[in-house]
Amino acid sequence: MKLNLERLKRQLYTYKAKIQTQYNKLNKQKVFTIAGVGAALFSGALYFGLSDSSKITASLPETSIEMGALPIPEVDKKYGFVTDNYLTTEDQIKNGEFLSDILTRHDVAYTNIDKLVKKATDVFDVRKLRAGKKYMVLKNKDTQKAEYFVYEPSVYQYVVYDLRDDMNVSIIDREITTDIQTSSGVINSSLWNAMTDNGMSYDLASRMEEALAWSVDFYHIQKDDKFKLIYEQNYIEGKKVGVGKLLGAYFNHYGNDYYAFYFKNNNHEGYYDLEARPTKKAFLKAPVKYARISSSFNLRRFHPVLKRIKPHLGTDYAAPRGTPILAVADGVVTKASRTRGNGNFVKLRHDKVYETQYLHMNRFAKGIKPGVRVNQGQVIGYVGSTGLATGPHVCYRFWKNGRQVDPRREKLPPPEPMPEKDIEKFNELRNNLKKELDEIPYLTVEEIEAIKAQKKEEAKVNP
Ligand SMILES: [Zn+2]
Repeated sequence: MKLNLERLKRQLYTYKAKIQTQYNKLNKQKVFTIAGVGAALFSGALYFGLSDSSKITASLPETSIEMGALPIPEVDKKYGFVTDNYLTTEDQIKNGEFLSDILTRHDVAYTNIDKLVKKATDVFDVRKLRAGKKYMVLKNKDTQKAEYFVYEPSVYQYVVYDLRDDMNVSIIDREITTDIQTSSGVINSSLWNAMTDNGMSYDLASRMEEALAWSVDFYHIQKDDKFKLIYEQNYIEGKKVGVGKLLGAYFNHYGNDYYAFYFKNNNHEGYYDLEARPTKKAFLKAPVKYARISSSFNLRRFHPVLKRIKPHLGTDYAAPRGTPILAVADGVVTKASRTRGNGNFVKLRHDKVYETQYLHMNRFAKGIKPGVRVNQGQVIGYVGSTGLATGPHVCYRFWKNGRQVDPRREKLPPPEPMPEKDIEKFNELRNNLKKELDEIPYLTVEEIEAIKAQKKEEAKVNP
């Protein structure tokens, strides 16, 4: 089959320029590089499939378009220095190595090191240097004297220790540029995790899950489920360094369409569906992620420790010890204490009607004590088996008007809808994002193969 990559490139490029303009309108304070005649480069197709020998079953084309206006680093420049003008040594801090060890090797006098250490305390303490991090020593070509020591704590910044006369220390934040990209994929495998294994950044996958978690059951992804995403990609010196905001998400699950649109103004920030309803509900389904129900709410349950019928007024979620326990809704801590049966437990009040309680914690999260406000999704403690428990789990209890009920049978209050006055603005954004999402193509297997082969070639030429 003949590939039509050119057509795709054109489509995506037009698409991108449009959405970028639209997004800029909404985020005036954000600076994007808008390329007028950028070299649209189709840069990546990712695969995820089964780990066995079966053929590749799903594709995750990352339809990124590198912008022509992105800064292209000059080959001979690093950390702002023209490296050709110096004798440079680049390495990583070794285990147990101190700045003084490195600088002594480069003939810096101990008195000078001492002076530098003192000077650095308020800017970037040399004791914060960590093994495995990159550094560079720059020496004067004529005098052979070390003039600079540069340390890179993260891709986002570096620290320049000026070893000359005055010994200055400065932290330089690297410029982050952002552009907008799209991803799409068709799932032919039920192995959702395979997505992250095969290239889609974990960040992006978890953001999609966050945006759509209330409508799509990500534990039961089906063959032929599809998704499309519009998101910000961050760059430093032309290299991808992470994902920014997920702006729009589409998921087709069991043949049903789900959308989530990111919207922000003075009153709201979050994801909304086609009808401007928050995609987030007032209560999380469960207080732990990736856990299974080991015992349901049951008025006639045989107690495994007490060996008799005793109503189980909670829902048990089995999870490894130390798994974070999340507040299922915004609220205030009313109890964080310990009893013989409950072990360490936390109780939250959410409003006049609802309270929730979390038992058998290994320990409380930092700062969790009566009177403290918590947000939905905030970690309040960690799974354990304190009190009457046979193994690590959280017993989740749900109180309505002072009585314990089964939250899974409760018709819980819907989230607050967006007020009328914001609807128009939201609708405008939604219409644009939806149109753009709908136009993102799914790549064919052949197209993905071609892009993959091209990437391989590129890697050979430019490893
Ligand atoms: Zn229980």
